[in-house]
Amino acid sequence: MDFRHTEEQLAFYKSVKDFAGRIVAPGAHDRDVEGRFDREVWDAVGHFGLLGLPIPEEYGGSNADVITTCLALEALAEGGHDGGLGLSVGAHVTIGTVPIWLHGTEEQKQRYLPRLCSGEWIGAMAITEPEAGSDAAAIKCRARRDGAEWVIDGSKIFITNGSIANAIIVIAVTDPEAGRGQGVSAFIVETDNPGFSVGKDLDKMGTRSSPLSLLHFDGCRVPSEALLGTEGAALWQVAFECFDWERTVMIASSIGGMKASLDAAIEYAKERESFGKPLARHQAIQHKIAEMKAHLDAARLLLYRAAWMKQEGLPHQVEASVAKLFVAEAAMKNALEATQIFGGYGYIKDYPIERSIRDAKLISIGGGTSEIQRMIIARSLLDL
Ligand SMILES: Cc1cc2nc3c(=O)[nH]c(=O)nc-3n(C[C@H](O)[C@H](O)[C@H](O)COP(=O)(O)OP(=O)(O)OC[C@H]3O[C@@H](n4cnc5c(N)ncnc54)[C@H](O)[C@@H]3O)c2cc1C
Repeated sequence: MDFRHTEEQLAFYKSVKDFAGRIVAPGAHDRDVEGRFDREVWDAVGHFGLLGLPIPEEYGGSNADVITTCLALEALAEGGHDGGLGLSVGAHVTIGTVPIWLHGTEEQKQRYLPRLCSGEWIGAMAITEPEAGSDAAAIKCRARRDGAEWVIDGSKIFITNGSIANAIIVIAVTDPEAGRGQGVSAFIVETDNPGFSVGKDLDKMGTRSSPLSLLHFDGCRVPSEALLGTEGAALWQVAFECFDWERTVMIASSIGGMKASLDAAIEYAKERESFGKPLARHQAIQHKIAEMKAHLDAARLLLYRAAWMKQEGLPHQVEASVAKLFVAEAAMKNALEATQIFGGYGYIKDYPIERSIRDAKLISIGGGTSEIQRMIIARSLLDL
């Protein structure tokens, strides 16, 4: 077993963290308060080469392996303190762009990947519906064939980047008679399509610089070439594969957030005094810091185990769920403890630590809830 990253990976990590500290961190507080996505920051992330990380260079990407992609998202979050940006970048890369690379025709790859990798276009994926979240097989959004076109009707909710995306991968039922989870297909919908509209952006608790949208498809006509992957097989082929990308790669941002919170808590504990000595001299505070470090290391190891398995092409659905479940719980515990160490100052918005609880809560919900991760793990162990 080799736990070391290469010199090249470590240098890359440092360069991304430095970039994020210079470009992302300065406006992160205001973007959170205003719930505002910043296109300039996005473009800078694109220029830095982070928006097409795992995509081959021939399509405009960076050809990064899975571990390096995780490292970049972790470093962006550690240096940038902007959970919303991490969410938007993670969704754009892992569920908005990767499926086109893995399942697209050559024409689709040529049309979309260079624009998505540069950041000129923003990507998204729409599975969740107002009445179908955890139970993705219960979606009702329908796509009907009409001559050389498909006509999409239905609504999607909680779509990251929904209102800013140029191309959205939409999962819809194409054969309602096919049985549960079958007859579901994926389509690439360009958002200048007249049948597409944004219902509204949803005002959320955390990760506030990332838009989250309700989307409507009303007689939305797309050409037959918009079909992504095999007709009828998208739930298993595209959507569930995306969940594994979210659970192994996208949540690397959360590890960066945990690191930033721990560092902030350590710094504060050394500076702030109570009862005539720094907080860091009180054993109760030392224990919190030690536990935060243990949670961080365990979460990081589980995440990189799953990422390494993905990189090696090994089955990793259970390991991805274990990582997602543990990271969600560890990130929340650490955010609570970091806030506690900051005392009253942790509860006011002037300090970045205040965002940590609100941002961390998402990890147990988005990309499959913690209850669903437990279900996947238990079903596998119990052979159900
Ligand atoms: C910030 C954010 C970003 C998101 N981004 C996207 C995106 O880009 N694209 C997209 O398609 N979706 C996205 N989602 C949707 C997200 O994946 C869903 O919210 C999530 O899957 C849960 O679905 P739900 O909200 O409908 O909850 P429900 O499925 O209604 O679940 C409600 C509660 O019941 C529990 N529950 C449900 N079924 C079971 C069961 N069988 N056993 C035990 N407990 C159960 C759940 O765990 C949860 O606690 C996003 C959500 C958020 C909040």
